[in-house]
Amino acid sequence: MLIQKSVCLRILTRSSYHASKIRAANFGTQAAASSLPEPYAPSSFRLNDNDEYAPVDWNNLGFGLMRTDYMYMMKCGNDEEFEFKQGEISPYGNVELSPSAGVLNYGQGLFEGTKAFRRVDGGIFLFRPEENAIRMQIGAERMCMPSPSVRQFVSAVKQTALANKRWIPPPGKGSLYIRPLLIGSGPVLGLAPASEYTFLVYASPVGNYFKEGTAPLNLYVEDEFHRAARGGAGGVKTITNYAPVLKAISKARDRGFSDVLYLDSVNKRNIEEVSSCNVFIVKGNTLSTPATNGTILKGITRKSVMEIAYILGYEVEERCISIEELMEADEVFCTGTAVGVAPVGSVTYKGSRIDYKLSSPLVSEKLYSRLIAIQNGVVPDTQRWMIQID
Ligand SMILES: *Cc1c(COP(=O)(O)O)cnc(C)c1O
Repeated sequence: MLIQKSVCLRILTRSSYHASKIRAANFGTQAAASSLPEPYAPSSFRLNDNDEYAPVDWNNLGFGLMRTDYMYMMKCGNDEEFEFKQGEISPYGNVELSPSAGVLNYGQGLFEGTKAFRRVDGGIFLFRPEENAIRMQIGAERMCMPSPSVRQFVSAVKQTALANKRWIPPPGKGSLYIRPLLIGSGPVLGLAPASEYTFLVYASPVGNYFKEGTAPLNLYVEDEFHRAARGGAGGVKTITNYAPVLKAISKARDRGFSDVLYLDSVNKRNIEEVSSCNVFIVKGNTLSTPATNGTILKGITRKSVMEIAYILGYEVEERCISIEELMEADEVFCTGTAVGVAPVGSVTYKGSRIDYKLSSPLVSEKLYSRLIAIQNGVVPDTQRWMIQID
């Protein structure tokens, strides 16, 4: 199994950097040195408890990477019997990897995405982070990696959010996107699981995922490339699922589409999902979304929206949805942590384009308003989805 005797090189943070270098590297031209927090010292790390904001144009946040102050790192190898024990917050910076690290050579890696929200009363909340933790555990099993416990995962996400508190956007301006990674960091030459694993968490403030903002998406239905196949790893958030669709995405973007909707690889007839979000159709009072049979990522937003829809009185179904049915739907929308609940304005398949009527109030708008209201604490969190962390 994972037990290997080879000695492994370790990922190192640039903790030997002089503090001023870290500050210069982290902030570039964004901030004056005088407004920065004190350099980090591992033994005396204190969470940043002043409410000062980072120097960001909060009104124009997109979904780009912005360097923040800190990241979290935890490692385990055969010395630890492949059990994660203790991690720590360190300054955000580059990591050092062996050229033969499992992740670099064979793509042994997983990612997650979750968000921290700042409320009007100043409270900082996470949305269902334990769901991400469980999904990482399931993915790790599939990718032959040890994984952090749910408690370790949630604690790391919490610490990363709080250490970067000044980067959490003001209420209503966006959120802090938190990106946990689990990678095979130990060296391997022959194809095998790595001898050491690293769990990393970093964060970046974000606004809207698509450059369209909240405008409806124009999806291109791809009938040449597939995202995932039966027996593959489409159902887990492995990094290996994403580079192969870049070509389909860029082809679609070049033609003015927002993103790509993939079809099942067997019949090329049933819809699966979009590159980084799940898809729903609405017909009458019924919401339907493709059933997850290993080729579709089980989105946490998907699951949450299904629950919200049910509570709001819609019929909710998980089943096969053909391309024809998609084209005849009343409404189509996408869900994901990054995109939220995004209405689809048009779908183009084999040269024909269907435009959906976008008369307010859309079902997707109702669902998204409710989700946002739960996240912002405007309606009672009867599902206990939110965790206050400050
Ligand atoms: C992350 C992701 C989603 C959305 O999952 P959420 O948990 O809702 O963020 C959907 N599809 C793919 C391919 C993804 O990578």
